[in-house]
Amino acid sequence: MTNHTADSLRQLLDCQLAEAKAKLDELHGLPVAAAPETVARTYDAIGRALGDVHGFSELFMAVHPDKAVRSCAEEVSQAISTFSTTLGLDREAYEAFARLELPAGADEGLARFVEHTLRDFRRSGVDQDEAGRAEIKALQEKLTLVGQAFDRNIMAGGRSLRLEEGHAALSGLPQDFLDAHPEDEDGSVTLSTDPTDFLPVLLYAQRDDVRRDLFMEFHTRAYPENQEVLADLLATRHELAVKLGYEHWAHWVCEDKMIRTADAAREFIESVAKRARPFGEKELAELLAELRTTDPEAERIEPWQSRHLMERVKKSRFQFDSQSVRPYFGYRKVIEGVLATTEALYGVEVRRNESEPVWHASVECYDVFESGELTARFYLDMFPREGKYKHAAMFNLVGGVRGEALPQAALVCNFPEPKDGDPALLLHDQVTTIFHEFGHLLHHLFAVQPWGRFAGIGCEWDFVEVPSQLYEEWAWSAGVLQRFATHHETGEPIPDALVDQLRAAEEYGKGLGVMGQMLYAMFALSLYDRDPSSISAGDLLERLQKEMTFFERVPGTAMECAFGHLHGYSASYYTYMWSLVIAKDFFGAFDGDLMDAERARRYREAVLAPGGARDAEAMAADFLGRPVAFEAWEAWLARA
Ligand SMILES: [Zn+2]
Repeated sequence: MTNHTADSLRQLLDCQLAEAKAKLDELHGLPVAAAPETVARTYDAIGRALGDVHGFSELFMAVHPDKAVRSCAEEVSQAISTFSTTLGLDREAYEAFARLELPAGADEGLARFVEHTLRDFRRSGVDQDEAGRAEIKALQEKLTLVGQAFDRNIMAGGRSLRLEEGHAALSGLPQDFLDAHPEDEDGSVTLSTDPTDFLPVLLYAQRDDVRRDLFMEFHTRAYPENQEVLADLLATRHELAVKLGYEHWAHWVCEDKMIRTADAAREFIESVAKRARPFGEKELAELLAELRTTDPEAERIEPWQSRHLMERVKKSRFQFDSQSVRPYFGYRKVIEGVLATTEALYGVEVRRNESEPVWHASVECYDVFESGELTARFYLDMFPREGKYKHAAMFNLVGGVRGEALPQAALVCNFPEPKDGDPALLLHDQVTTIFHEFGHLLHHLFAVQPWGRFAGIGCEWDFVEVPSQLYEEWAWSAGVLQRFATHHETGEPIPDALVDQLRAAEEYGKGLGVMGQMLYAMFALSLYDRDPSSISAGDLLERLQKEMTFFERVPGTAMECAFGHLHGYSASYYTYMWSLVIAKDFFGAFDGDLMDAERARRYREAVLAPGGARDAEAMAADFLGRPVAFEAWEAWLARA
């Protein structure tokens, strides 16, 4: 399944499309009096026929080393979008559902399936006349292409910075960073805007001009290419939303989320930003005081200085240097540690599968067993390479359907690769990222359902970052870390005191961090909750940045061009913070005992396993024994 060529991927698509079409014909041919279960099963089979090829094409578009496969995956993805749009506008299929009468006491899953399918049909515009549906179809097809162009430009839009002075310009950077960036023959060094270069330079480089220059390169990725593409994306979505009977795109997006309306999203963002501001103000003053120790005349902090200054404050205030924990976090050890933690917590067994083909030599395949039975499979594609997606994400490949389909997923990340005796020491931030992505992975793999549409992460989209942000907590617990984080030279487990320092230091800057997140959330929402012909993304960002943060937009930057979430999440970037509020509440329910298998089992049953089969609000209340509350999150924010 995973060693595709462009030809085999195309063949698979043809075969799966034919099957989906056959199922659709079957649905059309069902008698008017067909049983609800038959109608629903037939419809579910259409989605399932395309599910796998869709999952793999999304993955290959982002990571496949062969350019021909990447382009083919794009075509496959377009073909599936076209089919889905046509299906969403299929009057006959809609009517087959609209006329169903469920008997009292009908199966809960079936009732939910029918209700959600009808809702989605209406949201697709199925009830419009033929001309209206044709317009919607054309807009949807255009959106697929524009969205792909936006993502593609970001992926290809990395930039570089050449430092003529070579290593001399990189004072402050750790030795292994310098080793990984040898000087060229002419003595220069070239840095990329990939996170593996950008983050360390922003944190550690002592030279302000080096940080500034790389910051400028980073914030002009996909610029100017994406400027028009973004305008087109916003305009097309707005047009589509209006055509579907909504005031704007944000209303359409929020409707099927926990938050329900764009106004509620705005209220949430404003309320969080307000709570964070006093903490941010205090931190800002501390950062400025720190800056004045080296630049007594400084009056304000520039955006490329804040991470570096935070690092310096952490050093002086907590005697903590984020480099000091790296010796405990060799890449291999961390991966094995996360796997072992997951095994202990959920009573599963994870085994490396070396016979399953993979798409690149560095990709690893793993099988998950429960009571000796194979229950899931996942892939780790963890190192950067040319043409590969630059961030960290989980790609769902196959949704788990009970008795029929093995759940499968892939983690795509960009960590330094261990080789030739170099253990590839990670920052704690990167360890947290691994736990985060495993949180998504477990959610997808554990949500095995009798219906394809509820399998995997099928919950409301503003709940999806709950399991991932919750699992990050494990990366902060000394008890958990000591199970695997041993010093790569001495073998000594990471000391309690160092973890305490780590936590205090890494949590420093939460106020400014939350404010920055709320800026992104408000920016994304404000691009979509009005007619976009009246706004310029750059001007909007500049205004919001002034209102909501202490940092002004740097002239010449165009962060919006490389803000990938504007496509994938569109108006709903608030999701991360919304989910974090819930995750902090869930964390409290573990009551400090993160390796308590009984609690993990309850969490898995109440929250992970249902996938899309229950409303998120109900799952949360079930696990907590009460509705979600803000208090745990507030306590986290206030903790100095
Ligand atoms: Zn995530």
